[in-house]
Amino acid sequence: MFFKPKGYDYEELAKKFSHLVAKYFSPDEFYLHILRFVMESVGSEGGSLVLKEKETYTVKQCLGWESFAFRMEECLGLIHWLKKNHCAITRQQLLEDPHFAPIKTTGLNFFIQFQGEVSLPLYAHGELLGLVTLAAKKGSKPYTPACLTLLNWLGAQISMHLQNNLLKEAIRLQTLELEGVKDLKSQIVSNLSHELRTPLTGVIGFAELLAEEIDGPLNNEQKRHVTQIQNGAERLLKILSALVDLAQLEAGNLPLHVQQFHLAPLVASLSDEIPLNSETALKIVLDHATPRIYGDINLVRQIFKHLLDNAAKYTPKGEVQISADKKGEMLEVCVADTGIGIAEDKLTRIFDGFYQVNGGLTREFQGPGIGLSLSKKLIELHGGRLWVKSMPGRGSRFFFTLPLKPVVIKHRELAA
Ligand code: ADP
Repeated sequence: MFFKPKGYDYEELAKKFSHLVAKYFSPDEFYLHILRFVMESVGSEGGSLVLKEKETYTVKQCLGWESFAFRMEECLGLIHWLKKNHCAITRQQLLEDPHFAPIKTTGLNFFIQFQGEVSLPLYAHGELLGLVTLAAKKGSKPYTPACLTLLNWLGAQISMHLQNNLLKEAIRLQTLELEGVKDLKSQIVSNLSHELRTPLTGVIGFAELLAEEIDGPLNNEQKRHVTQIQNGAERLLKILSALVDLAQLEAGNLPLHVQQFHLAPLVASLSDEIPLNSETALKIVLDHATPRIYGDINLVRQIFKHLLDNAAKYTPKGEVQISADKKGEMLEVCVADTGIGIAEDKLTRIFDGFYQVNGGLTREFQGPGIGLSLSKKLIELHGGRLWVKSMPGRGSRFFFTLPLKPVVIKHRELAA
């Protein structure tokens, strides 16, 4: 039950207030509605709302008065009092009550600036968020103790919502800032990778010329060195391409060409490119009966390439198998291996990007740690999902889904 000083219907006011704060307003509209609500609740002729911004207080809304520049430095005594006491104060109290003598001068300065009769603090966690200052009441009625009690109750309600709104606004601004940083990061990675790719293509080209012995014959030692240059440069090129794709994907700029196609020939065409260890067999359990999927064939190729490269890399001896099953409107693909497996506590982190289970300088397996993160994003771009089941020493099964019906590709949601 509400405490009801004579003359005010708190239940009705609480209902109206909840109704008001449930609506969506821009910050300025919200301030205006709040100010009007307080004025109408007690019957004031005018009012203003001042809010803290950085280290100063600024007039945000005025009703019944012209807006003006608030000179806070003349009123610091009163501001400190309101900050400490969390309750409304009237001009009359300053004039008549000796209790307020220490803040009388700064308080009266304040009320002169606002031509106000009462000021109500808005506060949260010991901080003064702002002030609602009201002019005289209509018909020159006094601000009675009951009216001040109501104002204090309203102050507490408004403070809570104001604090929520300020937090929401701060989060919105931070999110915008983060998006800007993300876009910038994608732009830098993309530009840098492009810049690095050009000289690298030169290195690969000249190494090829050397390997073909166009400039003269090479001895065995030199041939071995050229092969090392070629392998290293190819690896670097692959990493750069993956980085560019990731940056383009995050920025929503990866061009896509969706079509319907069979997976079996795509995977078969990849089998020669998978660097399997000599004691590992590749088994493809896909054929023309496997339903055709919708997607960008080059991107789907990349997904298989990343998962199969990993399966081969982390399976020193055993089997890598690719199979698929229709699940509703999606095709569920499984890339399974009998390799080293992944510890349970690492299973979610491997999709984070730039993460390796056995990271560090002394790590056994090479790789930048972006293949899974990129694959996950590419799959999600097609409306699918990527997940893993694994046990250390027993192998891993990477599952992903691809659509059997035409898809709408949603770039921005992914970047979010
Ligand atoms: P990387 O370039 O390091 O292979 P990925 O993003 O492809 O990066 O994989 C991230 C990490 O996940 C790898 O470093 C590895 O520890 C683990 N991982 C991925 N695939 C497998 C797999 N088939 N078996 C075991 N571990 C795997």
